Amino acid sequence: MPAITTAPALPPLNAAPVTAGMRLAYVLQHFRLAYPDAPNVDIGYAASHPAITIIAGTGNFFQQNTPYPAAPNYRDWAGQRIPFFFDSQPEVPLLSLSPGRAEIGADIISAAFYLLSGWQEYFSDARDRHGRFPYAASVQKQYGFVDLPVANYYFDVLKTAVEHVTSQPLRPRRWAGGAPFAAFITHDIDNLRSSWKAPAKAALQHGQLLNFGQLAWQHFTQPDAWDNLEAVAAATAAHGAKSSFFILPESRPGANGTPNADYAVSPALLQRLEALKAQGCEISLHGSIGTATDAPHLVREVERLQHGAAGLRFHYLRWEPRQTPALVDAANWFPYDSTLGFAEHFGFRNSYCHPFYPFNFATGSEHGFLEIPLNVMDATLHHPNYLQLRAEEILPALRPMLAEIERFGGVATLLWHNDHFDPANQVTGPHQFDEIMGYLQQRGTAFLTGSEIVAEL
Ligand SMILES: [Zn+2]
Repeated sequence: MPAITTAPALPPLNAAPVTAGMRLAYVLQHFRLAYPDAPNVDIGYAASHPAITIIAGTGNFFQQNTPYPAAPNYRDWAGQRIPFFFDSQPEVPLLSLSPGRAEIGADIISAAFYLLSGWQEYFSDARDRHGRFPYAASVQKQYGFVDLPVANYYFDVLKTAVEHVTSQPLRPRRWAGGAPFAAFITHDIDNLRSSWKAPAKAALQHGQLLNFGQLAWQHFTQPDAWDNLEAVAAATAAHGAKSSFFILPESRPGANGTPNADYAVSPALLQRLEALKAQGCEISLHGSIGTATDAPHLVREVERLQHGAAGLRFHYLRWEPRQTPALVDAANWFPYDSTLGFAEHFGFRNSYCHPFYPFNFATGSEHGFLEIPLNVMDATLHHPNYLQLRAEEILPALRPMLAEIERFGGVATLLWHNDHFDPANQVTGPHQFDEIMGYLQQRGTAFLTGSEIVAEL
């Protein structure tokens, strides 16, 4: 009889009251990162008579601990149909301009805060079997906007208001001295030694003992096809980019049996990582199962990389919104994290295409590390649990999302596991990686490592 398992209890809520002033400060801080040339203009709610007035529309939503606001109202902006949360007066124009003043008819500050802060994840109890907030429970899924960076559209409304009031055109952030957007090319290293396992299992199942014997012999006598870090770095370098590797220093399975690495961090591997670093690659930590909710465990793991880690991403994209951000901050090891994407769908988990500082619900301000959101992972595109795209459908499916990132001068973060560089993978393999990289290159992206992105901000 199978054991009956229950999901572990979630950590308790630990949220300070979030005031309108906190929302405004957090959102405007990010607006100024997205538009670094924006002059100082008074932006606020009617009571303070600022040059740019936002019509308040939240009622008492932020005094409650409920995850979801009322359904959004849809308005057209910049050629897209955009959902506006906290839009309590749909009859009021989105933007009214008069000499020296502007009025924004929907509470885009609170709506941007809601999405950027990850409010839904923090206050929702929904978690999947890996302890993750599921895409199925998100407003992005419910209202169908996961592939639109809606918060960037809200900022575009605000930018238009600022341009009017100051008579000064604003342009989005540029990268590496002028590129219209950036791309962050990452590889989580879960497996280095297991390429033979699936074909060997298939051979056994079909009674092909000779074939099985050959595969087993190769495994013990020849390098594994997945032991390919240098080849991965070369495939990335062929497009003028540098790989960021996320190393998983735990080979024992997690407490619930979820697998971790199939390799150990040996002195020989550390030496190879040093050589990759010397080529300009970046080495970061891939926190193993359990580390997203256990600070000492996380710190022990980064120490096993010996030379520290440039940044962090959790294995299986594990992230407990009520606990992980504070833990990453307190570890004081990681200038950036890049875990926040939905495993189930490519797009924008926080509806934002720029790096951002996660909101600290306990203090009402921002955390000290930068989140570089994850936009697309190879396994998402073709997997029994996720999407089922064919090889030729992949780039066409991603192009509109990448165009949104380019439009707003954001960062496109790509996760291509090293085992997906196996030539035997013809659906989400090296060829599809090359196609996406070729597209990014042709669009004039700046390929940057996580540390370089942190330095630009
Ligand atoms: Zn992983």
